[in-house]
Amino acid sequence: MLSHISNLHFLVVDDDVSTQALIIHHLKGLGAKHITAVDNGQIAIEMLTQEETCFDVVICDLRMPVMDGVQFLRHVAELKFLGAIILLSAVDKNILQSAYQLAQAHNLNIIGSISKPIEPSAFKKILKTLGAMSKNFHQKLLGSITEEELRNGLNGQKLKYVFQPKIKVTTGEISGVEVLTRWDHPTRGVLGPMTYIPLAERLGLISDLTNGILKHAMSQAKVWMSQGLNFKIAINVSADSLKEHDFADFIVAMAKEHAVKPDNIIIEVTESQLIRDIKSTMETLTRLRLNNIGVSIDDFGTGYATMEQLKRIPFTELKIDRMFVSEATNDSTARSILESTVELAKKLQLQTVAEGVETKEDWTLIEKLGCDFAQGYYFDLPMSANEFGAWFMSWQELHQQAG
Ligand code: C2E
Ligand code: CA
Ligand code: CA
Repeated sequence: MLSHISNLHFLVVDDDVSTQALIIHHLKGLGAKHITAVDNGQIAIEMLTQEETCFDVVICDLRMPVMDGVQFLRHVAELKFLGAIILLSAVDKNILQSAYQLAQAHNLNIIGSISKPIEPSAFKKILKTLGAMSKNFHQKLLGSITEEELRNGLNGQKLKYVFQPKIKVTTGEISGVEVLTRWDHPTRGVLGPMTYIPLAERLGLISDLTNGILKHAMSQAKVWMSQGLNFKIAINVSADSLKEHDFADFIVAMAKEHAVKPDNIIIEVTESQLIRDIKSTMETLTRLRLNNIGVSIDDFGTGYATMEQLKRIPFTELKIDRMFVSEATNDSTARSILESTVELAKKLQLQTVAEGVETKEDWTLIEKLGCDFAQGYYFDLPMSANEFGAWFMSWQELHQQAG
């Protein structure tokens, strides 16, 4: 893992020189080799804009002169920076939480926060995420992707599929798998979904893309079933697809063609997209449920659905955003949100999935709170279909031995 860290380029933005030195010290201790530190946001933005510099991770303070952290994040979002961001601050946890949410709303890839004074253990927690980043895909994107590039890429079948296991908390069994996509770009490298999904949505290409993904997921499920592997398969769907009146029919037909049981399929839609389009997605959601297909509200806690909206949406699962899960062990606000979400879901007789379970401590906490399912780097990263088949076998074996 440490050798991956050595390939990443870090940019530290903090006006306090002693903090800079401390962060550099900790990063070096983890194996980092490329670290640049600056003392204000404006210089950092200039550096991020330059073509010749390339940063994978930005660590930034919130309280800074010249440009504060919140303003800085807005500028970073305008640059469409795709690397990871770690927030650093001595400010109140609630302010940190708000900044975190703001950054997520800007589509920034926030992977954690560190409170000041800095404890060495804080870096340990984000180590796994950083290790995963460099293996997963390139975050760096020089220049924006054009419409033509996206059309050609997606027509050219350059999409790669990866699968991440979902574990049943009470038994440790594999209950399902989530399908995630990557774009194997001929010149830019392997790109993560945040580089092309929002663009495909804007250009009206998302429905074709989703249908292709669904088809692939169903045929992969059929292969696994023929090997005797039985679990649910979850697919991410944009609200635009749900607005298409024949979307439910398409899934039902695909499931039938591949002999996949509808109740083994879960459609994940983010809370923020759902509540933006509640009226126009309701017909499809209801028809999916009529056909026994599961519906999960993804990134729950970040979209601010009201109780009234939740009552109206026919869903079966709440997938708690990883921000609340990974912060819960050291932040009482995140923990309260996690706790009350699990309680709410129990009262509504819904399943809960904690995403972003990264450490043993995260796992122990969600077990204690009574979450139904867990997903995250603690179990494994998203992997290819073949890797997943092998992973499944070895996990089951281990599990049977333990049981
Ligand atoms: P998501 O549905 O919330 O998916 C989970 C994301 O968190 C994935 O990132 C996964 O790699 C990452 N992840 C999993 N475990 C951990 C963990 O323990 N810690 C951390 N820090 N991260 C973890 P990925 O693959 O980059 O996907 C990002 C988002 O892109 C997804 O978020 C999903 O909303 C969207 N997406 C991915 N594939 C598709 C797709 O085929 N169609 C659509 N419409 N959206 C997709
Ligand atoms: Ca998801
Ligand atoms: Ca999610």
